[in-house]
Amino acid sequence: MATNHAETSHGEARARREPPPFRHVTVHSIHHLTRHLVGVTVAGSDLQGLTIEQPAASVRLLLPPPGRRELIMPSWNGNEFLLPDGQRPALRTFTPRRVRPGEVELDLEIVIHDTGAASEWASTAAPGDSAAISGPGRGYAVDHDASAFLLAGDETAIPAISQLLEALPTKTPVLVRIEVAHPDARRALPEHPRATVEWCDLPPGSPPGDALVSAVHSADLDPGTRVWAAGEAGAMQRIRRHLFEDRALPRARASVRGYWKHGRRGDSADA
Ligand SMILES: Cc1cc2nc3c(=O)[nH]c(=O)nc-3n(C[C@H](O)[C@H](O)[C@H](O)COP(=O)(O)OP(=O)(O)OC[C@H]3O[C@@H](n4cnc5c(N)ncnc54)[C@H](O)[C@@H]3O)c2cc1C
Repeated sequence: MATNHAETSHGEARARREPPPFRHVTVHSIHHLTRHLVGVTVAGSDLQGLTIEQPAASVRLLLPPPGRRELIMPSWNGNEFLLPDGQRPALRTFTPRRVRPGEVELDLEIVIHDTGAASEWASTAAPGDSAAISGPGRGYAVDHDASAFLLAGDETAIPAISQLLEALPTKTPVLVRIEVAHPDARRALPEHPRATVEWCDLPPGSPPGDALVSAVHSADLDPGTRVWAAGEAGAMQRIRRHLFEDRALPRARASVRGYWKHGRRGDSADA
């Protein structure tokens, strides 16, 4: 029986459910979508049965330790995954952009930024490199009765926003506002007949998410609008406060998710 370090609100030990087993994959191909976004296709028979039913879902990507090419499998200690030497593995969350079940392939789109295990891996990965996938984690339940949608995100949210544009009802207006840290991070997005896409440049030296927060503040929102937002965790807090306090938007009408946290490794930004 697994030991556990998680606690309930009464301070008692609580068993965390072990995540589903990892699926081994190898890198099949890599292509640059923009200078800062790399498309990585991973493949392997373990992907059989992986289905993604909702847009903006997630998978966890297990990577080899920094500077190594062979994957070391961690084990679950009842609370978290640990490598045999007790270190935490490089485990990061990404949007499963496309799954091709027949070809047992999965496309990921990974932002290249200053430093980070996944960012470094994606910029040096080569066909045949090993990795592993677990998931999927829950995605976004589309409300087909919404009068409009606002999709707001930074570069890490571009894969999820792309999926949402493919999934949202074609009759409903969609305003998309995306913050980019570099002008050349703009890219073509899937067509949606009622979507308006606006790119917001982050002024050099500004904290990540600043331009996105302003873009959400200035958005003209119909009362029946559903909001989906993802990006840097601190900026997402500001967006939540603005939506729920200033605009009194019912909480059920918004999904606002921290995808990463400025100055912190790993991606459990909302934890
Ligand atoms: C549900 C979900 C879906 C996600 N989908 C995607 C996706 O499809 N594509 C994608 O690229 N990311 C996605 N992310 C975000 C991604 O998991 C994080 O950006 C992650 O931290 C990247 O890992 P890393 O090893 O490169 O950097 P880390 O080792 O985690 O961080 C190292 C340093 O880089 C900073 N950092 C992390 N990410 C960024 C960034 N994007 N820009 C600038 N600085 C950063 C950290 O604050 C830290 O200081 C998603 C996250 C979640 C929770």
